[in-house]
Amino acid sequence: MGIDILQTYSSTDILLANEKWVKRNFPLKSQNSTTSFAPFGAQTKHEPHTFFLGCSDARYNESCLGYNQGEVFTVKTIANIFKEDDISTAAALEYAIDCVGIKQIVVCGHTDCGGVNTCLLKRRDLLPKANLSKLYYHLEDIDRIIENNWSYITETVKDENNLLLRGKIIAKLNVLAQIEKLLKLDVVKNAVELKGLKILGLIYDVDTHLVEKV
Ligand SMILES: [Zn+2]
Repeated sequence: MGIDILQTYSSTDILLANEKWVKRNFPLKSQNSTTSFAPFGAQTKHEPHTFFLGCSDARYNESCLGYNQGEVFTVKTIANIFKEDDISTAAALEYAIDCVGIKQIVVCGHTDCGGVNTCLLKRRDLLPKANLSKLYYHLEDIDRIIENNWSYITETVKDENNLLLRGKIIAKLNVLAQIEKLLKLDVVKNAVELKGLKILGLIYDVDTHLVEKV
């Protein structure tokens, strides 16, 4: 009846793929063993120690940190931007810090970021306001970062055609800008001051898959 959404957009049978994934990642569980999960598998309790704010880009996620499933509480937004009026991310932070007691926040941008490239190529103004007004507003941060740091960006990477490197610099500046904004939230500020919460900025390279500190 109707369209099978699980198979509409891909040649992969998602349910079958999921079964294979469970067998691969949770062998003990999938064999009906009474022994909880595989030794390297996910924790059964929800006790993540890390909050991950990354870009919605499909080429990377929190697994780049090398932790197991269950260890990282994740929010992804376009260009890993935290807007001051983003109730959803703020609520996730409150929950992760005050209810779960996470120990660190990782803000992880990435190379070849579409949000960054749009602004670097001055294409934000070309976004049709009629249907992309929220995206236009969301990317305001990146435009401001580029405007405020243009001399630094062009001095550091003189070749105007090297969008990858210029974009990487902007992505780094963006990570720092988002950390600065997170630190203005009472819940984050208090946890840093009173509970020793750590905040780390990273950039993920979509070609090498390696991360580097910002
Ligand atoms: Zn991105």
